[in-house]
Amino acid sequence: MAEIWLQNLAHTYAPGAPYALKPLDMTWRSGGTYALLGPSGCGKSTMLNIISGLLRPSEGRVLFDGRDVTALSTGQRNIAQVFQVPVIYRSMTVGQNLGFPLVCRGMSGLRIRKRVDAVAERLGLAPLLKRPANALTADQKQLVSLGRGLVRADVAAILLDEPLTVIDPHMKFELRRILKEINAEFGVTMVLVTHDQTEAMTFAEEVIVMNHGEVVQVGSPTELFERPATHHVGQFIGSPAMNFLPAQRDGDRIAVPGTGLALPAPVNLPDGDLALGFRPEHAALAAGDGQFTGQVARLWFEGLDEIVALSNPAGEVRVRCPAGQPLARGDSVGIRLRDGALRLYSGGRLVA
Ligand code: ADP
Ligand code: MG
Repeated sequence: MAEIWLQNLAHTYAPGAPYALKPLDMTWRSGGTYALLGPSGCGKSTMLNIISGLLRPSEGRVLFDGRDVTALSTGQRNIAQVFQVPVIYRSMTVGQNLGFPLVCRGMSGLRIRKRVDAVAERLGLAPLLKRPANALTADQKQLVSLGRGLVRADVAAILLDEPLTVIDPHMKFELRRILKEINAEFGVTMVLVTHDQTEAMTFAEEVIVMNHGEVVQVGSPTELFERPATHHVGQFIGSPAMNFLPAQRDGDRIAVPGTGLALPAPVNLPDGDLALGFRPEHAALAAGDGQFTGQVARLWFEGLDEIVALSNPAGEVRVRCPAGQPLARGDSVGIRLRDGALRLYSGGRLVA
């Protein structure tokens, strides 16, 4: 297990090309669970491959427990990496696949068998040990890939690059549970790459949100939900997306014209277009007039809730309500926000 430090790290794939990964500094706690979350092409795999040693960064250093490993290979770093498509040795049995990293290290047959049995038990692969790996389902093959990382007692971290993409939804849930149990049991650092916010938020203690090669926010799922650092995070995380309404300075306040929504203007307000944002979960339909009103434009169900989208001259506002609202399109409805729900943004960034 290792604390991983990315120091002044950045990457371009060719000299003079734009950054695939913009300069960053980050520490990953030993034994933590992390998710790298962002749309396709935002630099997640680039960052993961730099941590694992598959890719040498064009700038900066990678440190494991204070030791510079930038020039070391994946094997020398003791990193286990699981990819979107399971990597298995097709001509070997499940047991041989699991034991292979130990065979390569010259461990004795008996010790290998003990270790393989323990890992197979943990992953539910014990009944399949003698089967040809070739004959497994995609889910099972992915478990074998993961198991090969786990057999080594000295593994520094397990890096998973969209490993659940090929897995069916039920198994995804199951695999995520297994990963968390393994993290709790062995204390191994885990980094999961995903473009699925639910996957990231349910797996990780800390989520790294990326966009266009940049780390835009690092925080717990609660922090990302309560205080998104940018419009992008507010829209990418949460369903439906956070509401943002254009705002203006009005004396000593920042207000959304015609709504009664306002916050005190901070002393050092950064330049940029102003907006006030709030989560659909932090608003409710009001019996009276509320703070402002909107016309019902659309309604749709999400589980036991109903999302009501209301139009207002300031913009569209979505509110999460209990299902069964006696509403029809065009109805005029009052909206009230929970205390402390409003956030101020300037130039698309949260103003502290
Ligand atoms: P993600 O994993 O988030 O989908 P990647 O890290 O794979 O994103 O890619 C980040 C950016 O770097 C993209 O613009 C991608 O096209 C580019 N890129 C990735 N791999 C290479 C490569 N081997 N050579 C050149 N450009 C690459
Ligand atoms: Mg990728």
